[in-house]
Amino acid sequence: MGLRRRRAPARLGEVPLPPQTTTAVQDYLEQIHQLIEAKGYARAVDIAAHLGVSQASVSAMIQRMGAEGFVVYEKYRGLILTDKGRAIACHVIERHEILTRLLRGFGIDEATIYQDVEGMEHHISSQTLEVLTLLTEELETNPSLADKLRARLARGKAAGA
Ligand code: MN
Repeated sequence: MGLRRRRAPARLGEVPLPPQTTTAVQDYLEQIHQLIEAKGYARAVDIAAHLGVSQASVSAMIQRMGAEGFVVYEKYRGLILTDKGRAIACHVIERHEILTRLLRGFGIDEATIYQDVEGMEHHISSQTLEVLTLLTEELETNPSLADKLRARLARGKAAGA
């Protein structure tokens, strides 16, 4: 998935996601940021493919996000994020990365992780993110704790729990 791994997010959970941004806007900002990072530009056709929506929907949403000050269209660079748009994208991506790392530690399949994380990343508070970041880092640096939890999980499955 090409996600950057960051040990400790800067200023852990300091800035919450603005409550006025919808889940859809957050998803668009996340995708646009990732496309620009990966390819250098974010075309409507790629945004549409990644989000599973029509190009007409992308055009309408980009207009709305432009009016709200999250993106601008520049003649030679194409669609870019404003500072405000980038800040929100980075918060969503930070949540995505932490939640993914946490769940991967328990061997959940990638498709399930992706589906669950795409939902959770919009809804957890900064305080919860801080706890989950701590938990993720502890599990990644404490193999005996991780093994103990995985063993308990495996026993639960075997017992049909
Ligand atoms: Mn995501």
